[in-house]
Amino acid sequence: MKILVTGGAGYIGSHTCVELLDGGHDVVVYDNLCNANEGVLDRVEHITGKRPVFVRGDIRDAEAVEAALRQHACTAIIHFAGLKAVGESVEKPLMYYDNNVVGTMRVLEAAAKTGVRQFVFSSSATVYGEPKFLPFTEEHPTAAMNPYGKTKLAAEGMIEAFAVAVPTCKVALLRYFNPVGAHESGLIGEDPKGIPNNLMPYVTQVAAGRRTHLNVWGNDYDTPDGTGVRDYVHVVDLAKGHVRALDTMAEKGESLTVNLGTGKGYSVLEIVKAVEVASGKTIPTKIGPRRFGDLPAYWADTALAEKLLGWKAERDLAAMCRDSWNWQSKNPDGYV
Ligand code: NAD
Ligand code: UDP
Repeated sequence: MKILVTGGAGYIGSHTCVELLDGGHDVVVYDNLCNANEGVLDRVEHITGKRPVFVRGDIRDAEAVEAALRQHACTAIIHFAGLKAVGESVEKPLMYYDNNVVGTMRVLEAAAKTGVRQFVFSSSATVYGEPKFLPFTEEHPTAAMNPYGKTKLAAEGMIEAFAVAVPTCKVALLRYFNPVGAHESGLIGEDPKGIPNNLMPYVTQVAAGRRTHLNVWGNDYDTPDGTGVRDYVHVVDLAKGHVRALDTMAEKGESLTVNLGTGKGYSVLEIVKAVEVASGKTIPTKIGPRRFGDLPAYWADTALAEKLLGWKAERDLAAMCRDSWNWQSKNPDGYV
């Protein structure tokens, strides 16, 4: 299959390109590099021995997306491109709706015009909002709590409606939990700009001595040690989930909405301990106030992913921390 991967130069996209190329697919990366470095393509080539085609462009430019689909005769799209910082989405909601909702609409328009009938979308567990029950099943009501989550929900709705209107089009809405880790080579990984918002890159930067300590956002939640609990999933497992989603849509001719997580929750302090073990470094922490908008705890019900996709995360917390640390220690300044 020849696949257009929007946002393919980013964190999850680059790992998915590796799994697609290793699986014998052809890949066209479409990315405007607003949060990525072109050097990632050299690294993907180094790992796989194959270089993805690269088109530098914005997803909101429907004509350019259409031209890329036609020129390279793509038959499927994996749509990662978008903005993902919750705090920034509160400050700049229109920028988020423009990139994540209008951008997705433009990619769908290009798919419609070019006859591309397989579409995989990066959604998020944030669409569920406050847990009415746990673990989150795909049937859990959706109620995103911030502009970022609302753009994901709006995009999901638009994609579903498109698939109803064009019944030959099959779509996969993949709801990721908390992606961490890196390719085991240490050649590709997460490269946040500035101060990381997310826990894992912050913790590994403390371990590397780039930051003095981790601020733990609250230790008075109703969780075993009082700190927030999340379902961390290795990015390579997540990447493999995309390949399974494409294969499943092709085999069964069905659209699907599935969680991609491990089904296990770990607290902030458990992550700190596991990175200490992986790195052999001490990670100083300071307890701070709760972060606005954070939920105490949630994790995935993984039964549907297993049943529909035959997919189950294989890498445990130790592997996630080992690979995050391997990437951080080999690339102290990210892609330079
Ligand atoms: P990332 O920022 O590393 O990758 C996104 C890529 O999209 C970047 O390479 C960026 O340059 C590109 N991009 C952004 N806007 C674009 C535009 N208008 N046109 C073309 N390219 C554009 O982020 P990631 O962590 O790899 O996330 C990928 C997707 O998964 C996003 O849609 C994100 O919302 C979603 N997601 C991420 C997480 C997470 O914690 N990382 C969790 C759930 C869902
Ligand atoms: N967290 C923290 N300190 C940080 C970053 C995150 O204590 O510097 C906590 C956060 O409160 C949450 C967990 O780590 O309980 C995961 O946060 P992250 O931002 O990585 O992902 P989220 O689940 O919020 O999308």
